[in-house]
Formats: sequence, C-alpha cells, structure tokens
Amino acid sequence: MPNLNVVIPSSLANILNDAVVSRGSSLDSVVTAALSQYFQTTRHRAYQISTSAALVQGIYDGAVSSRTLLANGDFGLGTFEHLDGEMVVLDGNIYQVRGNGSVQHRPDDFLVPFAVVSRFQPDESFDVPAVGSLEDLERACDHHRESDNLFFAFRVDGVFERMHTRAMKATSEGTGLAAAAQTEPEFHFEEIVGTLVSIWSPRYSTSFSVPGYHFHFISEDRTKGGHVLGCSATKVLRVGIQVLCEYDVRLPAIESFLKANLAVDTTKDLRQAE
Ligand SMILES: [Zn+2]
Repeated sequence: MPNLNVVIPSSLANILNDAVVSRGSSLDSVVTAALSQYFQTTRHRAYQISTSAALVQGIYDGAVSSRTLLANGDFGLGTFEHLDGEMVVLDGNIYQVRGNGSVQHRPDDFLVPFAVVSRFQPDESFDVPAVGSLEDLERACDHHRESDNLFFAFRVDGVFERMHTRAMKATSEGTGLAAAAQTEPEFHFEEIVGTLVSIWSPRYSTSFSVPGYHFHFISEDRTKGGHVLGCSATKVLRVGIQVLCEYDVRLPAIESFLKANLAVDTTKDLRQAE
C-alpha cells in the first residue's frame, strides 16, 4: 500500500492526534477513514472475505491479509484461522475474542478466513429505549431498514443489563461450522458498557452471507466480547445504521476453497451455528 507524506496545519494535526487517541485507533486508519469520507468512495460499500458457505463446509484457512481488510473497512465482524475466536472490527481495530474469553487487539498482519467490513458512516442515528431481548432490539432496528433486499450495518452503543455471548474455539480444518459451534464456550455479562457490531443480510444471500442480523459485541474496555446470543438493556441504546448497496466479495484462491462443493443449501447449518 502507498505511503503518504503530507504537510498539514498543526491545528489539524492536533485534531488528528486527538482522534487517534480517543478512538484507540491508528493514524493510518483515521486518515483513511477521513479521506474516504471526504471523497465518498466507500459510503455504501461492504467488503467481504470468503463466503458463509465455505465456513459451513469447514474452510477456515486464511485467505486475505488483515491489512487489506482494514484498508477496505473499519467496522465489521468475522472469524480467525481455524475458527480461533470471534472477530470484532471497530474504529479501525481488529479484536480477537477467544474461546477462553480473552480479548486481544490484533494490530499485526495475519490472514483472515472470513470477515465482512464497511467504512462505517451512519446514514441515520436513532435511540432505542429499553429492550428486553435481542429480538426486541432487532425489531427496533427493522423499523429503520428501508428494504429487505439491501445489506445494512448497525452500530449499537450503550449499557447492557445482560449480555450473552459465545466464542469459537480453534478447530481442525474440515470440521463443519454447525459441529464446531456445538461445543462453544458461552459467557454472561451484566451491566456492561460496550458496542454491538452488526451486519444485516437479505434472505437471498444465504450462499455467501449470514441472512438476518449477525451481532458481535465488545466491551468499552475491550476485555470482553463475542458472538451475541442474547442481550437486554434498561437504558437507552444509541444506534447508527448504514445502508450497504455495493458488495465486494473476495473469493479465496486457496486449494480448500477451490475444491470444495459449495453448491449445497447451508440455511439450516447457518441458522444453527450463527
Ligand atoms: Zn458471529
């Protein structure tokens, strides 16, 4: 990737440095986000590595580098090689929530087997009053989706009364997703401040995405998280929604992907696992 060397006013440099600190992000990430916002290059674009069908079939080899993923988005979710944890991408940082419950910031360069990201810029923001369940939250978000045929990214910030997550444990290549998901450790948190990262996908996208809502969570202090199974909140949640009508899917040029039979109906396995 190109290196940019520019002279900017110190007032702007101060603002930039403040943004890097407050977002816990890198300079690269903040500048990339600011430039793409200015030029409106990726306003409604999703970038995905591999397909959900490949995951269901147990193809967990890394396909695209994490640097390339971050060059294409600063917000999203996914998994790691050999299904070693849940990926949360937030403010240009990649976090790995492992099966033992630990959370690690991953600024290094590594290969990613599956992920979906966007350059998050909300088209609309709204408040959701107390929610008794994840389904309540989904219904509240549904009112703000203008179509069942586009993709959407949702960012939800607030205090969660209850948060129920799970995190995948590393598994061997070829173990199907549904089988792998059966033995996953689950976690329960209470009164936890944090962010839900969600991608909503249309029903027709089942062969390459996860239809419906897919939520991952990370706490504000970045020490807890996972794939969300349930949650509730007694206080107002702040939600941002981004319409995604451009979809860029990178298909892995790796042997396991090239030789797999992906012409199978994965709906049942996906519903079970995700
Ligand atoms: Zn997930």
